Amino acid sequence: MIHYSCDRCGRAIDPKEELRYVVRVEVEAVMEPIDGEVIEDEDRDHLMELHEIMEHAEDADNPLMGEGVYQRKRFDLCPECHRQFLKNPVGREASKLHYFSKN
Ligand SMILES: [Zn+2]
Repeated sequence: MIHYSCDRCGRAIDPKEELRYVVRVEVEAVMEPIDGEVIEDEDRDHLMELHEIMEHAEDADNPLMGEGVYQRKRFDLCPECHRQFLKNPVGREASKLHYFSKN
């Protein structure tokens, strides 16, 4: 029997008792075009490059897969952490939210 635990709080998730939520996160670095410089050939190169990155996405040793260029992650969450995640998916700090709301 496969045993799941919550990736956020570490608690075991019993599939008979509760739902398990799977969160998939895909992060990619996006290079915005430089002002006034539109070069169509570069678009093709960029696509090729992205394709190459995707092909190696599973290769953990690939330096391109390090921080920042492209990352894909999967998390199992218990119902409580699922609720917390949806409230604040990008992990904003509550204190900062409060600070910014004053401005
Ligand atoms: Zn949890």
